[in-house]
Amino acid sequence: MSKSPVVIEIPLACSDELAAVELLEQLRWGDNPGCVHCGSVDVYKMVDAKTGERNKRFLWRCHDCHRQYTVRIGTVYEESRIPLRHWCYAFWRAATSKKGVAALEIMRQCQISYKSALFLMNRIRFAMAPDNPEAEKLSGTVEVDETYVGGKPRYRHQYGLGRATRKTPVFAAVGRKGRIRRRVIADVTGKTLKAAIRELVDSQSRIISDDFSSYMGIGKEFPGGHHTVAHGTGEYVRGDIHTNTVESSFAILKRGIMGIYHNVSRQYLHRYLWRFDFMWNLRGMNDGERTVAAIRAAEGRRLRYKVA
Ligand SMILES: [Zn+2]
Repeated sequence: MSKSPVVIEIPLACSDELAAVELLEQLRWGDNPGCVHCGSVDVYKMVDAKTGERNKRFLWRCHDCHRQYTVRIGTVYEESRIPLRHWCYAFWRAATSKKGVAALEIMRQCQISYKSALFLMNRIRFAMAPDNPEAEKLSGTVEVDETYVGGKPRYRHQYGLGRATRKTPVFAAVGRKGRIRRRVIADVTGKTLKAAIRELVDSQSRIISDDFSSYMGIGKEFPGGHHTVAHGTGEYVRGDIHTNTVESSFAILKRGIMGIYHNVSRQYLHRYLWRFDFMWNLRGMNDGERTVAAIRAAEGRRLRYKVA
């Protein structure tokens, strides 16, 4: 795919329906549009008999199976009648705002209902979810840490089961090579945190954490070793042993959750983690490339989609 023309088209696709349709068609089919029903490439764009312009519904028709379709078929867009320019705008905002974008803002800017805006943003967050979590373990030197989202963690280590707090514990593993994986956890006990590390981090990795007791003993399972910084006694960096990367990832997450969304309930927090992890993992891309990556991730997800 040629990247730059697509990037230039995105702002236009946010305001013009034909431009939005053609952008999504280009991203989906490139220069070889095929029938979504039978796969034939003997297809054509239907035109309005009077004006000679493209059919109002942007229909395609197949010469082989004689069926009609649009670029929405088989994608997340199929379930809604929301104009595709609003989808493009929401993708653009979601993939370019560091702190996130609230459904209320999309509602105002696109002049759509709150329900539609919420629908858009939920599906876009889903598109940003990791594709194949099992195959994406972190490797190399990996910082791990946990935090509470929803306010100041007053009883961080005393209340391992999270009893005295309504804040939600979140675990993060960040590879120094650049990728992050986060998840909502039930509590911050050793059992839970070690299970999260095993699940998200390759066993050949080198683990770095602070001196929280729940991480003690994890080194036995990781031949690359487990190194700690003693935050309890004021030590924050020793050579390359520090947890600054993972802490900065939590700072960005909290600024977004509290600043833009004000708060997020435990039930839905994982969807926001998808979004913030997507931004972190693709931060080397420019805004246009990241928007395209999100749009591409949304393709073909209709059948797999469930509101988790
Ligand atoms: Zn066909």
